[in-house]
Amino acid sequence: MPNTLFPTSVVGSLPRPEWLLEAIAKFEAGELPESQLKEYYDEAVVLAIKQQETTGVDEVSDGEQRRFSFLAFVAERIPSFKLIPTTELMTKEAEQYVKSMNLHVGVISNPIIVGKIKRTAPLVAGEVAFAKRYTDKPVMAPLIGPLTLLINSWNRDRSGSFYKTPEDAFGDLTAMLREEILALKEAGASFVQLDEPAVGNFVDFRYTRWLLALNGWKLGDLGELHKIAAELINRTVKGVSGIEVGVHICRGNWRSDEQHYSDGGYEKMIDEILEMKVRRLVLEYATKRAGTYKVFREHPWHGEIGLGVIDVKDPRVETPQEIVKRVEEASRVFGEENIVLNPDCGFASGRPWPVVNRQIAYAKLSAQTAAAKMLRKKHA
Ligand SMILES: [Zn+2]
Repeated sequence: MPNTLFPTSVVGSLPRPEWLLEAIAKFEAGELPESQLKEYYDEAVVLAIKQQETTGVDEVSDGEQRRFSFLAFVAERIPSFKLIPTTELMTKEAEQYVKSMNLHVGVISNPIIVGKIKRTAPLVAGEVAFAKRYTDKPVMAPLIGPLTLLINSWNRDRSGSFYKTPEDAFGDLTAMLREEILALKEAGASFVQLDEPAVGNFVDFRYTRWLLALNGWKLGDLGELHKIAAELINRTVKGVSGIEVGVHICRGNWRSDEQHYSDGGYEKMIDEILEMKVRRLVLEYATKRAGTYKVFREHPWHGEIGLGVIDVKDPRVETPQEIVKRVEEASRVFGEENIVLNPDCGFASGRPWPVVNRQIAYAKLSAQTAAAKMLRKKHA
């Protein structure tokens, strides 16, 4: 992280340019060779980096321009996973949740385990190595978190012959992610962010129930997942040093309408959060659904806080003044020296569902920069 008070960062994804989406559609229709598509991807990444630099982001990402989604990309890189539409996996029980929650699952495909998990290729290290050729700023690396990956990818029918239970996959899955973290250290990433929306969904377990029903993961008590979440994170980071690792927790990010997202504060998961042996927590706090800081006043967190100050689903651009207010309030709980300013989540965690357009996303990042400058002046 840059050696400054109130550094600014991102959570990962940025909306893809229209011309990239058109190129991908052409490629999928067999009208564009892969080599040319790769050039489009490269240019989209360079543009995303330059736009973050222009808007004054201190720690940039590659915008996840090459990924289908923050989760699905695993299947694009590692053959032990195969992208399967959730409509093909649907069970009677899962169908009921879809109806009762009004879930729009037609756009979702999950990277299902279809072989012994092995890191046969880089997951994210290649993205970071490329990005670093185009910027001198620190480059952060969003990497899927172990629980979110497992809960989406282990499917009784498709994965059962390789791992009889999800628990049987713990070792291979965390080993793959740990190897990736070490490769990211080698590639020069400033920060590895393990994306764990599955932990965010603990606030009401609605989405979790759907996923477990879809994949046939039987748990006597859903509360077991709390322990599993911390265990998987700690197995993933075991023995890793010399690179900053953190966990990003959010409550879902694939449509801009708020009604079916999880709602509730961090008190529902504070025990496992405090158990996680990571340096930075990247948390939603701009959305009201994330609750208040009270829980951290009572249960102090001593590491860094990637504080969500931008609501990625609200098209209204925040004013720097309101961001300053949010940060000052959080500073009294977390300590101003521990705060990194970032949006609540990515602006486009999946290619088909950007939550706001590019203009709004970059306007919001500019407001975040303006707020950081005001804060540095005030608190120097
Ligand atoms: Zn998120």
